Amino acid sequence: MIPRRRLTLDMADLADWLRAPFTSPAAAAAEVSAFEREFAQAIGVPHAVAVASGRDALCLIIDGLGLKAGDEIVIPAYTLGELLPLLSERGLVLVPADIDPATYNMTVESVRKAITPRTRAILALHLLGVPCDIAGLCGLGLPVIEDCAHAPGATVDGRPVGSFGVAALFSLEANKALSAFGGGVMTTRDDALAAKVRSALEGRPRREWPAMKKMLLKWVEEMMVRSPLYAVAARLMFGGDRAGRFEQFYRQANNRVRPKVAFSGMQARMGRRRLKGIAARQARLEPLWEKLARALPPGFEAQQRTHCGAPVFYNFVARFRGDLNQFRKRALAQGLDVGIFGEVMDDTARMLGHEGCPRSAEVYRQAVLLPLYDGMTEARLDWVIDRLRGIAASVQEQR
Ligand SMILES: *Cc1c(COP(=O)(O)O)cnc(C)c1O
Repeated sequence: MIPRRRLTLDMADLADWLRAPFTSPAAAAAEVSAFEREFAQAIGVPHAVAVASGRDALCLIIDGLGLKAGDEIVIPAYTLGELLPLLSERGLVLVPADIDPATYNMTVESVRKAITPRTRAILALHLLGVPCDIAGLCGLGLPVIEDCAHAPGATVDGRPVGSFGVAALFSLEANKALSAFGGGVMTTRDDALAAKVRSALEGRPRREWPAMKKMLLKWVEEMMVRSPLYAVAARLMFGGDRAGRFEQFYRQANNRVRPKVAFSGMQARMGRRRLKGIAARQARLEPLWEKLARALPPGFEAQQRTHCGAPVFYNFVARFRGDLNQFRKRALAQGLDVGIFGEVMDDTARMLGHEGCPRSAEVYRQAVLLPLYDGMTEARLDWVIDRLRGIAASVQEQR
């Protein structure tokens, strides 16, 4: 079975894990400061604050900006649905803006339509590492929060995303583009906002064990994904019309191992290492990304990548005009693990009961996540492409 994604685990990670219990609190704090300095430098902003997760960063930004109950915030109609409760439990009114059907990002036009006199902020997303028209969105005259969970290293006109808005959030979750096996970062140019976020973090204990435990669980999970058993498990989990249900369960289980402790010394070491490796990782993945996009059989259309800037690889997603449940069933039978519907992203307009985001609804119904990951060989990719041709043809014939 070729999994839809794989975690990168190397000997350096193992060494960091083994070192963690012997790290003094002072040494850990120094390591975290060094990580924050290097992260801020990479994004080109004065402040980077390491936090517990991307979600944690988003909440700290919202509270730090003083957004409060009754304020409206424009959000992407196609993003991670789990962000919605974080905003709505603060009383914010969420207004989804529709997306571009080629890049799956919000457009300046759709955001402009969603703005009312009560709008206080825009949450802009660089979906799947592909930059949105961030300069255009910032030109609308409202504070823009950049969701860079998928896009550390992506640039627009040579300038890193995360440096355009009033603040940005990054995720260092194990399955994201830049992993520290959990954690997140908020970046900003605003001295006052950075100070507010730092003071909100005071009192959080800095311990190594929660991050170590999480990494251990991720290792076990990765070993299962790499074992021959995964073929059986994947069919059981995804085989029927259970699309999304397992993902939901998986996400909930993951949320339970998301403690709000301070960023650890081990995470900082991993983050620093991966930060230095962004360009090399992109150079490895870029040709594969390009190749798969070009080789897609009829019926598929890959996400447009370079519309607004230079992307960074996160996940390979394409639209497929055919029955997705059937596509997945055939793919699994051929040893190909793919993601569909909510396993890619969520149609937040539908979740909020909003009409008027037809493109997001359409992309949600058609988006498929195909296997492409760091460490994939070209031979493997050729195998994927070959299978995909057969599967797509058979699904289309059925219709
Ligand atoms: C993963 C993700 C986040 C949040 O990151 P966590 O570290 O998992 O909290 C935010 N936005 C998007 C679009 C994401 O995919």
